[in-house]
Amino acid sequence: MKVVSRECVFCQILAGQKHQPIIYQDALCTAFMDINQPNPYHTLIVPNDHVESVYDLRPEQAAAIFQASVSICRAIRDASNCAGIHQIGNNGRAAGQTVFHFHLHLMPRFTGDLAKMALYLFGRKSIKTDVVLDQMANDLRAKLTR
Ligand code: AMP
Ligand code: ZN
Repeated sequence: MKVVSRECVFCQILAGQKHQPIIYQDALCTAFMDINQPNPYHTLIVPNDHVESVYDLRPEQAAAIFQASVSICRAIRDASNCAGIHQIGNNGRAAGQTVFHFHLHLMPRFTGDLAKMALYLFGRKSIKTDVVLDQMANDLRAKLTR
């Protein structure tokens, strides 16, 4: 049976109650655009079941998320021409977790973006419109099919 938390924003996205373009989905995990885009193509991968943090992930969920992240990292690299990429999970408030449904951040990095990334880590938001997020999602979906 699917595990859902009604208050959870990621469960709402997974249920289609909140719009966020989905770029990949399988039986265990889903990837969608992060609303905050300090660098373009910032993507999240989440388990389809509501799982609070890394400590609660089942092995098959962890495997599916990491496997999906490999293809999506390649798609982000190809769409953005980034110089590098982070795969980051923040677990627990002390580690900066703000949404308590496990997620892996895929964050492209560009040469010279350190100051921008530092501001992001200190909480600066770079919220994009649905149109911009939809376009980025289309780009990634196109790269994923190759
Ligand atoms: P963390 O701070 O690691 O828990 O990351 C939570 C992430 O969820 C942040 O990068 C937020 O920008 C992102 N986020 C919050 N609400 C939404 C939303 N409605 N759609 C997409 N991403 C979101
Ligand atoms: Zn959830």
